[in-house]
Amino acid sequence: MSHCPKCKSIMDDFEIGICNACKRERRKQKEFNIAVSWEECGIVKIKADSLEEALQIVEEDQSIRLPESSYVDGSFRADYEVSESLN
Ligand SMILES: [Zn+2]
Repeated sequence: MSHCPKCKSIMDDFEIGICNACKRERRKQKEFNIAVSWEECGIVKIKADSLEEALQIVEEDQSIRLPESSYVDGSFRADYEVSESLN
């Protein structure tokens, strides 16, 4: 066991010189804007004569307000193209 000469924290034996936290600090890492997106799922109530009609109304009617919704598990994504244009 050894200690980081800079911050005196305990280091793993395989680490050489200063600890990883001090290395990250010293590298003065840049900050990037990353565009992220995710999906939410909710339910809207539609009056119609059939399910098909109700589905058509939902697809075409721009005035339907967003319902209460919840995060779709696993849908969190980074958009590479948009992120490139942001940096
Ligand atoms: Zn350190």
